[in-house]
Amino acid sequence: VPVSPEWLSRQALQLPVPGFSEGMERLASARLRVVGAGAMAAPALLTLSRAGFTRIWVEDDAPCDEPNGWLGEHPGLSRAAAACQVLSSYSSLLEVERYPAGGVPTATLVCVNSSAAATAMAEQARRAGVPHVVMEPRGDGGTVVSVPPGAPCYVCSRTPSMESWPLSPLCAPLACIAAVEVFLAVLNPHPRAGRRVELSGGGLTYLPTVRRAACACGQPVRR
Ligand SMILES: [Zn+2]
Repeated sequence: VPVSPEWLSRQALQLPVPGFSEGMERLASARLRVVGAGAMAAPALLTLSRAGFTRIWVEDDAPCDEPNGWLGEHPGLSRAAAACQVLSSYSSLLEVERYPAGGVPTATLVCVNSSAAATAMAEQARRAGVPHVVMEPRGDGGTVVSVPPGAPCYVCSRTPSMESWPLSPLCAPLACIAAVEVFLAVLNPHPRAGRRVELSGGGLTYLPTVRRAACACGQPVRR
């Protein structure tokens, strides 16, 4: 595991705890890809940048033009570039970079506001064998869909009849749930079932995902 002396000294107290060091090393050696750096993604990015990851790839080409947004206004910079500056400043142990074209992450979190864009990102991750998590906000809560390799794909598992997801007051807790789901995907890479986490009425419901009949995701991926 490519960990620095600084990382080792930071984790010195925890590493001797049985079972702890393995997880810390998984987080430290992971490359986490986050698609989206706008208001919807902000709570997830802020959570994940403090979660023990050392490398986060951010992807969002939209201009960074909201003076009162979480990134502030940066003329000429994309949201991804501004997020890299803001999040990298939190810790010398954390490198936040723009997603390098063709880079294969350990896991992907998708925080975009349209079903079509989320589906395209999820399908790219599935074909690369990368566990991925998609958040789908709604006015009264929303859903986080978790797709480990081999599980029913996002198309099988997504919420039907939703084309776009506007920001809502419950986006922030939903994004934190999405952050936890992708954190668990890296921490526990053993084969797991896919699931939908529903945030509704102030509570969470966990539902297994089910493969749709004849969906191509039942076939082995050819790479
Ligand atoms: Zn499928």
